[in-house]
Amino acid sequence: MKKKQFKAESKKLLDMMINSIYTNREIFLRELISNASDALDKLYYKSLTDTELNIKKEDLEIRIELDKKERSIVIRDNGIGMTEEELENNLGTIARSGSELFKENNEETKDMQIIGQFGVGFYSAFMISKRVKVTSKSINSEKAYSWESTGADGFSIQECDKKENGTEIILYLKDNTEEENYDEFLENYTIERLIKKYSDYISYPIIMKEEKIEKDDDKETTTIEDKILNSRVPIWKKDRKDVKDEEYQDFYTDKFYDYEKPSRTFRSVVEGKCSFTSLLFIPSHAPYDYYTKEYEKGLQLYSKGVLIMDKCNDLLPDYFSFVKGLVDSEDISLNISRETLQENHQIAAIAKGIESKIKKELEMMLKEDREQYETIFKNFGNQLKYGIYTSYGMKKEDLQDLLLYTSSKEKKLLTLKEYVDNMIENQETIYYACGETIDKIDLLPQVETVKDKGFEILYLTDYMDEFVFKVMQEYNGKKFMNVSDEAIDLDSEEEKEALKKANENNKKLFEKMQEFLNDSISSIQFTHRLKNHPVCLTSKGDISVEMEKVMNAMPTDQKVKANIVMEINENHEISKKLEDLYKKNDFDSLMKYTKILYAQARLIEGLSLENPTEITNLICEELSK
Ligand code: ADP
Repeated sequence: MKKKQFKAESKKLLDMMINSIYTNREIFLRELISNASDALDKLYYKSLTDTELNIKKEDLEIRIELDKKERSIVIRDNGIGMTEEELENNLGTIARSGSELFKENNEETKDMQIIGQFGVGFYSAFMISKRVKVTSKSINSEKAYSWESTGADGFSIQECDKKENGTEIILYLKDNTEEENYDEFLENYTIERLIKKYSDYISYPIIMKEEKIEKDDDKETTTIEDKILNSRVPIWKKDRKDVKDEEYQDFYTDKFYDYEKPSRTFRSVVEGKCSFTSLLFIPSHAPYDYYTKEYEKGLQLYSKGVLIMDKCNDLLPDYFSFVKGLVDSEDISLNISRETLQENHQIAAIAKGIESKIKKELEMMLKEDREQYETIFKNFGNQLKYGIYTSYGMKKEDLQDLLLYTSSKEKKLLTLKEYVDNMIENQETIYYACGETIDKIDLLPQVETVKDKGFEILYLTDYMDEFVFKVMQEYNGKKFMNVSDEAIDLDSEEEKEALKKANENNKKLFEKMQEFLNDSISSIQFTHRLKNHPVCLTSKGDISVEMEKVMNAMPTDQKVKANIVMEINENHEISKKLEDLYKKNDFDSLMKYTKILYAQARLIEGLSLENPTEITNLICEELSK
């Protein structure tokens, strides 16, 4: 017999879990029952396409036996079973696909996340057991095998005798100590209580033998009967008012491998051409792999209480991919496959219903529980924005009122509607500014003037934000405008007239300056948009400076160029100086000034300098004068 070691990361997780994380040791039962139920689901599902199996749903069951003498608990199912290889792989490694990730994140909290997300289900058995023996016969194998382990120091597997397919788990309880009494788990009523508490909804009967003592005059007869411990009504089929919040929460954390309770739970029953019940959850945080390619969206799909697909992705649009939950419909055939799913009208109808349900729920949350919505938005808001962007605006109407942006007046998150409602008299435009952080945006010279005029500004700090606004174009008739857009218009008529004149008078000066900057910018002009700052960059047309930055950072060969305008504050002394130099034909100085000014403007925008040495030398030269 070979003795095998657990994979290294499993060992560590196991120690950690046994000793610290799962303090609530009674959950071992829920975990093992849930595995047994999955194994029954798998067998039943297989039997739908494989008629030779001859499986009847009513024969599928889970049995629990308690042995006080041996101090053991047996949990047995007649499900799909495990082959030798499956025993080794499934019970030999925790966090199978997460192991790589585990190596990278070794802080305590991250570890917990992994545990939560992969479910160390089976291992929880070691919280109460000194030895665990798993005997299993797979439906796909003639032979049966037993797996045995005393905990972190490894496991062994050997062939054994078992005729029926399915899995039997024997837990040999730990010895009692002064603080811990494990014997409570050998009492029928404890097990009954735990099944009611955690596994009541399991659709297969969970059966335990029960002694029945009947007194007849002076004769006492003891009979032993099967007792079904669970009500077998799936939690989603129960009325909302009959289910405690904690029950939903436990169901969620157990089924969807989360260690935190969901931030929102909602159930709905739809009757109609295609009837269905849904139980949906909005997680309170993003799963660790949410922003990776590995993340798979989808809802569990049940047909009359039987799980037929674990992640049916056609039921969820991408922008709601963070939603977890399940759909149960009597109108969906048990034989539905991934291939036929897309043409299935019922699925399409359910998906539509689910989509509007989620949207309504988010809207309600926004209204009723702002704080929680904001947390959700911080986690998943990008997804909603993507939804608008990738649909080329087709989903705009659906999603626009779910968006939040920080605004300048109170530095609070606002919806677009709130922004528009707050607009001052004669304000026609939704102003926004882009940058890495709110603090950095606030330092942009262009921002100051817009704020001084009493306008509120939305801070766009996410790289995709401005692209989304470009796709949306307007909100309720109010156009979006970047404060760095050259076309921004804040002046009075007289001011505009005066500025126009000044610009015309200095046309030659600007042309000369532009020569010094080669192709870097498309034009130079005086501006009134700056209060105290001498210079800034704005852009003409569809591509802003910020968008140029984002798009050029993408790993493609296609580079874009914003039409950049260098704007010089007409009221700043520097403009007089420039005019002077031009009049004196001092082109050498004019060149140096132009280059320094342009470099300054780039730095303020968060753009790099192409020629930092030249610029720093120029500055030093001027300082030394
Ligand atoms: P999880 O259930 O989260 O995948 P577990 O550690 O509880 O993690 O179980 C690991 C795997 O072992 C399961 O995914 C399943 O493939 C297999 N398994 C566990 N219990 C059983 C069982 N009773 N019958 C068949 N397979 C089982």
